[in-house]
Parts: sequence; C-alpha cells; structure tokens
Amino acid sequence: MIGSRVAVVGGGIGGLAAAAFLHRGGVRSVVFEQAAELTEVGAGLVLAPNAVRLLRRIGVMDRLVGRAVPLDVGWEFRRWEDGQVLSAEDLAESCQQLYGERTYTVHRADLAQAIASAVPPGSLRLGKRCTSVEVFADAALLSFADGTSAEADVVVGADGVHSTVRGAVTEPVPPTYSGVCAFRGIVPTDRAPGFARRRAQTLWIGPAHHLVHYPISGGAAINLVAFAPAGDYAVESWSATASGAEFLAEFTGWDPRLRELILGVGTPGRWALLDRAPLRGWSAGPVTLLGDAAHPMFPFFAQGAAQSIEDAAVLARCLARAPSSPADALRRYESLRIGRTTRLQEVSHARAHVNHLPDGPEQEARDAALAQADPLVANGWIYAYDAEDEEIPSV
Ligand SMILES: Cc1cc2nc3c(=O)[nH]c(=O)nc-3n(C[C@H](O)[C@H](O)[C@H](O)COP(=O)(O)OP(=O)(O)OC[C@H]3O[C@@H](n4cnc5c(N)ncnc54)[C@H](O)[C@@H]3O)c2cc1C
Repeated sequence: MIGSRVAVVGGGIGGLAAAAFLHRGGVRSVVFEQAAELTEVGAGLVLAPNAVRLLRRIGVMDRLVGRAVPLDVGWEFRRWEDGQVLSAEDLAESCQQLYGERTYTVHRADLAQAIASAVPPGSLRLGKRCTSVEVFADAALLSFADGTSAEADVVVGADGVHSTVRGAVTEPVPPTYSGVCAFRGIVPTDRAPGFARRRAQTLWIGPAHHLVHYPISGGAAINLVAFAPAGDYAVESWSATASGAEFLAEFTGWDPRLRELILGVGTPGRWALLDRAPLRGWSAGPVTLLGDAAHPMFPFFAQGAAQSIEDAAVLARCLARAPSSPADALRRYESLRIGRTTRLQEVSHARAHVNHLPDGPEQEARDAALAQADPLVANGWIYAYDAEDEEIPSV
C-alpha cells in the first residue's frame, strides 16, 4: 500500500510538482530537501503551454498572476553583430489559438513558491540531505546526512543532475564536462535598455556564444543568461560568480547596445553546463527518477523544468491508478515518459551547435531557414502535448 509512503528526494521544481500532483491524486508523499530553507536562486524560466496547462490544474497559474509575464513575442532570434531580427514567434494570439495557453516567463523563486503552496503543509522536510538509498524487494531505506533515516514504499529521485538516488537505479556515472558555460544575472527593469523591456524572449546568436533575455517578476526585472565557451572553467554551482568585465569580454564586438544590459547585471553568476547521455531506463523496483535526475538537458529549448512538471503529472496518475503495485506503476511511468524526454535531450543538445555557428555558409543557411520557419507550429510536438491525456490502465 502506498499510503503516505512515497518519499520524494529533492524539493526543486520537479520534486515539489511531484508532491503537488500526488496530493491531487490522493497519494500522500513526503519531500526531503537538503537545503535548510526553500530558496531558488535568482534566475528566470520560460513556461511553455505544455507546462502551463498542467500548472493551471493545480492552481499554480492563479498564484502567479501579476508575477508571471505573458510573452507577446518569443524565440526572437537576432544577429549578434547588429541585432537584425532573423525570426520571431507571435506568442500572444497565435500561441493561445494553437495551444490554448500562452507562454510565460517567471522568476524561479516565484514558481517554486507557487508550487510549494499546492503541497500539503507538513509534507516538506528541510535540511535532509539524502546520502544513500538501500533498496529491498518492495521498499527502500533512505539515509540522511543528519544521521536519520526513513523507510518508504516508493522513492522518487528528484535530486537534480548530481542525483544521489540515480545510483540506486543505474551505474553511478558522474556527468561530463560540456565545454559550455553560462553567465546569468538579473537587471532591474529601470536600468535596462528599452529593447530588453518588451514582453519578449530574445536570443542573440553568434560565433560560439548566444545571449538570451526576457522580463520576469511581473516586469520589474529582466533575466539575462548567456552561453560561452567554458575553457577550463568546470564549476557547476548556482552560487559561483564572475566579474562584469569577464562577462562583457565574452561579447566583445557584438552589437554595442548589449553593453548596457550586460553591465546592468552587476556581479553575474557563472557555471559550467554539465552533460549526460540519455538513460535507457531510470526505474528499479520501488525507486524511480524525475526531472534533471533522470534526463538533464541543455537549456536551449527551455524545457527542463517543463519536462519535470510533465513527469510529475504522469507519475502521480500512474501511482494513483496502481496503489497495490507501485513497481508496475513506476515502470509504466518510465515507459510513458522516456521517449519524449530523450528526444528533448537530443534536440536541445543539437541546438548548441546551431546557435553558435561562426559566420559563413552554414550560418547563412541557418539564418535563411530561420526566416522561413514557423517554429511555433514546427514545435507543436512539444507545446500541444498534454501529459494527462496519456492512457493509464488501472491495476
Ligand atoms: C541556464 C538555464 C536556463 C533554463 N531555462 C529553462 C527554461 O526556460 N524553461 C524550463 O522549463 N527549464 C529551464 N531550465 C532547466 C531547469 O532549470 C531544470 O531542468 C529544472 O530546474 C530541473 O528541476 P529538478 O527539480 O529536476 O532539479 P533541480 O532544480 O536541480 O532540483 C533538485 C533539488 O534537489 C535537491 N537535492 C539535490 N541533492 C539532494 C540530496 N542528496 N538530498 C536532498 N535533496 C537534494 C536540491 O537542493 C534541489 O532543490 C534551465 C536551466 C538552465 C541551467
């Protein structure tokens, strides 16, 4: 019997979403998060319709009114040197008409807080760093760094790209160095240039680099994230920083209007993007994975958090439908999710090359293709998908 005995390791976007969807499905769970308080570092997220329609069903979009920014324009690709617009998507009317939802941008902290308020009080345990998972035939034992332990009928590893739980379902291989690093920061809107204040997600693409910005926090701030060669930089930490001068130096020779935006960040965060090949499976007996623990992806389709939310919705339905055979439920969850998340890992990976082409024939062909494409329609397989439409038989 599952009862209250689903243990979710990790209280990020995916773990919190899992607890919220499980609660809605009548399955009680406990989230064990290593951090002493629920804080999400300053950074933004794009929420595409496939995530928005799920979040709306657990009341999260209502809680984000005034904080999430509905985008008018998205995937606005600009040329690095002069800002020439290569292509742009109408995310106001067309997105709503095609997919029944708009696309929003949010501060991660706002999203985490909004999802946390859909989780029943008392089911979130903070300061609980899971150090090991011992698996038995139909149960598992979690041990924590504070010397305590907890038994569970089902363990969901939502503990991110460095997942500890992952070692209980597959060979414990560390993630690899990707060669790409990210600079990130937030600029108060009143210090940002006019082009960055629009309700638009803009991507400046150029040789070996690209830079993305969009408004968050109800329009009070602009989220800025930029990708550059990592060199020998290999620190993967949300708290590592760089200097404004280092950030600016990466974009020497780019459109001079970017200077004001980059300097508006003050001290940027910097971290190396990690890479992992897709897994062939991510469940074993009563243990499964979710979100970045299962399928970390480069952020170039802005789908990592969205996929963890989809995972959460499907996992909850599978567990609710098979209360007496959780291992079957986990296998079904994995089989419903793995094809889609693998495809997203692959297309996100490929985009690093495409976004970072040096000027030349390949770049010209890319720009011509961008000018003719309608990615809002071409990416319908991502945005139209409703994770709760999946057929799940009762067991
Ligand atoms: C630059 C950048 C931009 C992005 N933009 C987007 C976007 O626009 N849209 C989008 O959908 N996605 C985006 N993503 C991806 C998204 O951030 C991640 O895919 C998403 O946060 C994954 O959520 P998660 O809950 O699986 O993992 P995480 O957010 O990593 O959460 C894991 C949680 O587990 C906890 N934890 C870790 N180990 C332990 C342990 N041993 N015991 C207990 N707790 C533990 C951590 O403290 C953390 O709270 C972006 C990512 C990056 C890097």
